[in-house]
Amino acid sequence: MTAPDLASLTSSAYQQALEVIASVEPRIAEATRQELADQRGSLKLIASENYASPAVLLTMGTWFSDKYAEGTVGHRFYAGCQNVDTVEALAAEHARELFGAEYAYAQPHSGIDANLVAFWSILAHRVEGPWLANAEKKNVNDLTEADWESLRRELGNQRLLGMSLDAGGHLTHGFRPNISGKMFHQQQYGTDPETGLLDYDAVAAKAREFKPLVLVAGYSAYPRRVNFAKMREIADEVGATLMVDMAHFAGLVAGKVFTGDEDPVPHAHIVTTTTHKSLRGPRGGMVLATEEYAPSVDRGCPMVLGGPLSHVMAAKAVAFAEARRPEFGTYAQAVADNAQSLAGGLLSRGAKLVTGGTDNHLVLIDVSSFGLTGRQAESALLDAGIVTNRNSVPADPNGAWYTSGIRIGTPALTTRGFGHDEFDRTADLIVEVLRNTEPGTTKAGTPSQASYRLADGVADKVKDASAEMLDKHPLYPGLDLA
Ligand code: PLP
Repeated sequence: MTAPDLASLTSSAYQQALEVIASVEPRIAEATRQELADQRGSLKLIASENYASPAVLLTMGTWFSDKYAEGTVGHRFYAGCQNVDTVEALAAEHARELFGAEYAYAQPHSGIDANLVAFWSILAHRVEGPWLANAEKKNVNDLTEADWESLRRELGNQRLLGMSLDAGGHLTHGFRPNISGKMFHQQQYGTDPETGLLDYDAVAAKAREFKPLVLVAGYSAYPRRVNFAKMREIADEVGATLMVDMAHFAGLVAGKVFTGDEDPVPHAHIVTTTTHKSLRGPRGGMVLATEEYAPSVDRGCPMVLGGPLSHVMAAKAVAFAEARRPEFGTYAQAVADNAQSLAGGLLSRGAKLVTGGTDNHLVLIDVSSFGLTGRQAESALLDAGIVTNRNSVPADPNGAWYTSGIRIGTPALTTRGFGHDEFDRTADLIVEVLRNTEPGTTKAGTPSQASYRLADGVADKVKDASAEMLDKHPLYPGLDLA
């Protein structure tokens, strides 16, 4: 089937779907149309977002949503799961091939779920298994209340070392208010205060002293590549399990931009990911593991999860099939190249970037040099049709709510076909907004961390310039909902 055929099929599929939805709740149909219009009309620079293909999106809207399928392929707690088995087996097969992994588990509903499955798999493999063997018990069904007491104490007494939130780590990497910071004794590693870069010697020193059961690598807002071979050396030296959360950069791994020491899969015991960021799949999570950890990860349900979202697993299989095509490698390389163009454009116009640049898909601007908080910058940029999110910078004086940073990424606009020139122009527009924004004051006249004033006319001027680029690179070309 040729491309124009696919576009017109997609158009009629969505037009008809929206009519069916409108017959029940027209406001949802309207919000769905409006969301497409809004996404089409703005510069989407949120580093964790993308645009999934119509094939991926359409796969999610089916009757697989109606099926319960707790368990694993061929071993379900419900009858009638033969088609879900096909879907889950295909998702896992594509994932194993795509990432060169020994084992793949496609059930987690989200990145956080994937991380919870990973944590409990590590605890099951490293703590519960040996405890049961030592107590000469076959499984947990044989435990007395006193045994449970002792096992719970053992499970609750383990240590996790992960990257701190303000250095770019994720909430699930041991942040105190998150479950990961409560179920484990935790410590966090940061980045070098001078360079903003990961200091592997400092991580190793901390690991030697803390002796974690789990060493977590990976990030949400660190604009650099990580050497996972070094992280594995550190883990091995202290007897830790290396878990890599590649949620943000899975697309760069799939597209073979990150290879060798930068590819987590050959180095980590367990790799977790989301499927919806740079990987451009449906909203969801996944766990990859070595043969050693596979049996415990396979127990994600009932250990942590209930029924899998079969319609989303089907969409994961479609997205992974797309990512196995050579075009995806070209896309992933363009994501990284475009991040260079964006960073270069920002630096040449005087912006200050955490670590001085990027070598992945994201850039972190320290907006304090414009006299703004992240919150003020995020709001002013949004007024001008530039969608970003505020983010802490290392040792952020404004904390995690107001912040001093703006995180921007290239995956979404690269999907629309933006290249060097468009990203350079985007950098220009960002700096124009930031330069023309002034911090505001509170009602009492004191400096405010939230209010701001964007100079008259700037938002319209930036929106016009963006519209020119966006019109040349339409989102879902040929999809017409009129
Ligand atoms: N891990 C990392 C590194 C992330 O950046 C995120 C989301 O931003 C997650 C996990 C959580 O993913 P989800 O929102 O799907 O639970």
